[in-house]
Amino acid sequence: MSRTVYVNGEYVPEEEAKISVFDRGFLFADGVYEVTSVLGGKLIDFAGHAARLARSLGELEMDSPVTDDQLLEIHRELVARNGVEDGLVYLQITRGAADRDFAYPKDAEPSIVLFTQSKPGLADSPAAKTGIKVISIEDLRWGRRDIKTVQLLYPSMGKMAAKKAGADDAWMVQDGQVTEGTSNNAYIVKDGVIVTRQLSHDILHGITRAAVLRFAAEAQMKVEERPFTIDEVKAADEAFITSASSFVMPVVEIDKQLIGNGKPGPVATRLREIYLEESRKAAV
Ligand code: PMP
Repeated sequence: MSRTVYVNGEYVPEEEAKISVFDRGFLFADGVYEVTSVLGGKLIDFAGHAARLARSLGELEMDSPVTDDQLLEIHRELVARNGVEDGLVYLQITRGAADRDFAYPKDAEPSIVLFTQSKPGLADSPAAKTGIKVISIEDLRWGRRDIKTVQLLYPSMGKMAAKKAGADDAWMVQDGQVTEGTSNNAYIVKDGVIVTRQLSHDILHGITRAAVLRFAAEAQMKVEERPFTIDEVKAADEAFITSASSFVMPVVEIDKQLIGNGKPGPVATRLREIYLEESRKAAV
């Protein structure tokens, strides 16, 4: 079935959507993106994603072609037109089309594209009941991972390495310490304390991370924001990841070694429940 997508001010059937071959998103990965989950036809944490988008654009000296109100309107319109009950909305803004040159063009109009992906039962993923397996790989990405750019080749390579090793995802390691997953933030739990790397240029400032840490604090759970090693992961009681599309997902194995008893732990399970319940309530 053909979707309706949004391209530079117009709602069009996906077959008719067009972007220039000179678009800097295509030539330089000169663009940023956001992924917002949809549950029950409503957007999860829209304000957080809009705020991070504005920050990413600002760091790259790029103007937004739309206001936050217009952005919300476009998200809602696409969800409605495509009848999305559960799934996600992908948004991408690039610096636009200009003759190829490394320097930012002065007169390019930013390109904006949004599309939906329907994922029925997104919140009842079977993986949440069994947990996922990860491998560890060196973090070879650039140094501004806090900017959510579309240059995702290394994370793709990481996912492929995980698949080849019979795992689901990869956790990336820099100077002996975990930065994050290929498309998610990483956590361990030891003796009741939740540990996750602190915010810096080294990781993406996850919108789900912010919400989960807030809910953890409200539930009187202890949180330490600091880097941790793969040895600590192997010795942890449990581990999990967070992202807009996986919410809170238990991790039960790293580099073929079980974490804890190899089953989703109570902290991850509880945080997933709280996150889903509270986010559904606050959804727009
Ligand atoms: N880190 C990376 C590298 C990611 O790609 C993502 C997903 N966009 C996240 C963390 C999680 O961020 P969020 O909770 O905002 O989806």
